[in-house]
Amino acid sequence: MAAALSPLTGRARVLGLTGSPGVGKSTTTSMLVGAFRARDLRVGVLAIDPSSPFSGGALLGDRIRMHSHTVDDGVFIRSMATRGHLGGLSTATPQAVRVLDAAGFDVVLIETVGVGQSEVDIVSLADTTVVLLAPGMGDGIQAAKAGILEVADVFVVNKADRDGADQTVRDLRHAISLGRRELGPSWRQPIVRTVASASEGADDLVDALAAHHDWLVAHGELQTRRVRRAEREVEGIAVAALRARIAGVRDGSELSRLAKQVAAGEVDPYSAADQLTDGF
Ligand code: GDP
Repeated sequence: MAAALSPLTGRARVLGLTGSPGVGKSTTTSMLVGAFRARDLRVGVLAIDPSSPFSGGALLGDRIRMHSHTVDDGVFIRSMATRGHLGGLSTATPQAVRVLDAAGFDVVLIETVGVGQSEVDIVSLADTTVVLLAPGMGDGIQAAKAGILEVADVFVVNKADRDGADQTVRDLRHAISLGRRELGPSWRQPIVRTVASASEGADDLVDALAAHHDWLVAHGELQTRRVRRAEREVEGIAVAALRARIAGVRDGSELSRLAKQVAAGEVDPYSAADQLTDGF
């Protein structure tokens, strides 16, 4: 099936949205879906929960808030748990993105809970990565710690109706200016204020996303990112396949035979690993 889909892909804009629990990712996703639908764009949403043990299309409780979109066939919403999947986020998600792309969705929005590695992983999947912060969560500092300042293409300070939003924007500006590194052609990460719960700032956010997309195209970065994404995906699939084969030999006698030789000092572990993988 993957081979049949490939020629149909490459058209969708892939957006990644990440941030700590409670900053308003679900609410912002819902707002964005509304904004894209208002522009007659079809939207696929993949809500990735890297920690959840539930597989398949388990609907998370917070998805229910997107209920108003579920009867619209221009919207597809799916929650995905990647913990049990071989290769994790890096292989399960691209497959789902490809299916939605081939099915003609104009925008694919990947929403991930900001826990450690997943923020970094999302970057390798998305054309544009949006990092959400909210006032009063110490997020400016958290963001700097987690290294997500560099991976964000667009920042959103959500809950702009709350006290401290100005301060969060200032902190973020400061952190960006400290961390700014020139990595190839430069894109100035915009900070968009939103009140997602009231759908305020949706147009500004859509404009910022469009500006980034135009920038990617103009600088050849879109292609670069997609090649990098494909690289990660192929690598993920290959590593998963190798792991499965190693698990296969673990159950057989080849690994234990080599392990005995290594333990006895007859063979060094590198040569043993070479012997193990030579047949692959
Ligand atoms: P997530 O965990 O990042 O997906 O966050 P949610 O979208 O579930 O939002 C967490 C809580 O913040 C919910 O109670 C939302 O209603 C609320 N919320 C979301 N956006 C805003 C906002 O702009 N302003 C305020 N005051 N509350 C918001």
